[in-house]
Amino acid sequence: MRRRRILVIAGAVVVVVALVAGLVQALAPHDDRTAANGSGSPKPTASATASTTPSGSPNASTPPSPPGFDKTQFSIDDPASIWVVSDKLRPLNPVDYAPADLTAMPIPTTWGAVPYLRKPAADALTAMTQQYTAETGLNIQIQSDYRSYQSQVKVYNGWVASKGQAAADLTSARPGFSEHQTGLAVDLVGNPAKCGLNACFGDTPQGIWLATNAYKWGFILRYPKDLTPVTGFEYEPWHFRYVGVELATEMHDTGVQTLEQFFGLPAAPDYAP
Ligand SMILES: [Zn+2]
Repeated sequence: MRRRRILVIAGAVVVVVALVAGLVQALAPHDDRTAANGSGSPKPTASATASTTPSGSPNASTPPSPPGFDKTQFSIDDPASIWVVSDKLRPLNPVDYAPADLTAMPIPTTWGAVPYLRKPAADALTAMTQQYTAETGLNIQIQSDYRSYQSQVKVYNGWVASKGQAAADLTSARPGFSEHQTGLAVDLVGNPAKCGLNACFGDTPQGIWLATNAYKWGFILRYPKDLTPVTGFEYEPWHFRYVGVELATEMHDTGVQTLEQFFGLPAAPDYAP
């Protein structure tokens, strides 16, 4: 009899304790939000993680997931930067900029002289054209390489004389606005040449291969089809711009075709009035 009473009392105590505990929990401020923000949420410390990880396991040496692509890594304003964005709204500054590391390339040209680009672009283009020949047995040559401010004056005036200014502005940049003046842009064609400086180059074996593979060497097809309202230039499947493997690969992987779109710059369909 006494034993049963003790059991009943003990049971009642348990129930009361449970109720009080539940009440305390219900009245306590919910801190999910602060926990979600990181303050006060218990996180495994580095030492705790390490102590449960067998030494030498892959986890111990795996670096943290890579951070997002750093779009501020290089200047897009400095004409000497491999990321410089030159378009009809962004003249080179200074307008008569000339690169300091022009390098000769062992690549044939349509005009027979030795071609030049800036050192990183020259090295990449040489490797890319050699790989193309090794892979296909076909050849690529250069139709236009680095152009100085003065030679761009001649080229642009030649286009104006033959096609008029409006048509010239769709094909050739005005002096100070040309990517060729940076020493990072090149016009390519097959060897023997076919469809040079013509949209049909995009359908040649060289044009198809370059459009698919140039990013692996750090080049982008700078004036893609149907993006004249963004770049200000007609489709130029022959014009490749060196931006480095990292940026070219990022643009390829994210499907962003122009530097203007990638860097969130205004479209540059025409020169400022
Ligand atoms: Zn070009």
